[in-house]
Amino acid sequence: MLCLTEDELYGRSSFHPEWNFIHEDGSQFPASAHPVPIAINTKRPVANVIMGVYRPITKGRVWLLVNAEPLLDDKGEVKEVICSFSDITKHKTVEEKLTWLYQSLEIKAFELATSNAELERFAYVATHDLQEPLRLVGSFMQLLKKKYAKQLDEQATEYIDYAVDGANRIKKLILDLLEFSKVSSNREEFGPTDMNRVLQDVVREFSGELKDTGAELVIPELPAIHANAALMLQLFENLVGNALKYRDDRKPFIQINCKEKDDEFLFSVSDNGIGIDPEYSDKIFILFQRLHNNNETYDGTGVGLAICKKIVELHQGTIWVISEKGKGSTFYFTIPKAQNQTYEKI
Ligand code: ADP
Repeated sequence: MLCLTEDELYGRSSFHPEWNFIHEDGSQFPASAHPVPIAINTKRPVANVIMGVYRPITKGRVWLLVNAEPLLDDKGEVKEVICSFSDITKHKTVEEKLTWLYQSLEIKAFELATSNAELERFAYVATHDLQEPLRLVGSFMQLLKKKYAKQLDEQATEYIDYAVDGANRIKKLILDLLEFSKVSSNREEFGPTDMNRVLQDVVREFSGELKDTGAELVIPELPAIHANAALMLQLFENLVGNALKYRDDRKPFIQINCKEKDDEFLFSVSDNGIGIDPEYSDKIFILFQRLHNNNETYDGTGVGLAICKKIVELHQGTIWVISEKGKGSTFYFTIPKAQNQTYEKI
């Protein structure tokens, strides 16, 4: 343990200053705190004392776990002390490495949270401030078209229409980006949320479109969960909205489901729409990623599913899709149960 031969050890007392005993925090370990004198003085065993001991030959430090057990004679006096030493240097090195790793992880998490917050602030300010100049471009283009209608030829009017169309698209993008950056700002409002009520609002929101398309939307009895109600509404609005939008010639059939598991709820939204090539099942959750360009039938900005992912992850859950092109899609997401929470119907 001390890397000394018997000869080298001979004559070196336990309390010799060259051992330079230290505590785990690096402070000096006084001779009086050594387990042996304590066991002698108190006549009681001293267990699991950790001491750092200097090795005079190798000039390194060994960490020892020390136990001292006093043996008493008939009169109750200490006759001898049995002292055991275990070398825990390897254990301490691993522990120190783990502590270091944990601390650097904490620093990285803090840096990440700060830069995320800064990015979110930037997105919010940029999108907010862009709205006004954009509104000016759109309205002055309309004004130009109206006021100079007689002087403008067909091509000039067409160009103005393109410009107005572009401005409208940017406006839609900005509004969606604003929605995206706002998702994390209401994280404090978590509480018992009746998912039946959330879905009632979704049905109300899409009542016109459901009627126009003849869609069937099947919703079972749903649980109350620990969540942010506004975000749950936004999540289902996006998923049901997509299920209606990405339909083919068939009448849309949308089925909501929920399975209660040990520590989470598994929700799903299935449709019989155009489906997604499994190759793109991860890509579609990335901001601005779409599988259609904008002159196709399906309009959009590619922000909806990125919002869904952000909402689910804010609730510590995960979201994914299982789909087959031409056959329909099922979007799944989990919401963990909060600890100490009862899930009776509200
Ligand atoms: P957007 O609908 O504005 O394009 P989303 O982020 O909501 O943006 O969706 C990203 C892409 O995922 C869509 O462009 C579409 O290709 C695909 N997608 C989403 N939902 C469905 C669905 N229910 N069925 C088929 N494709 C879908």
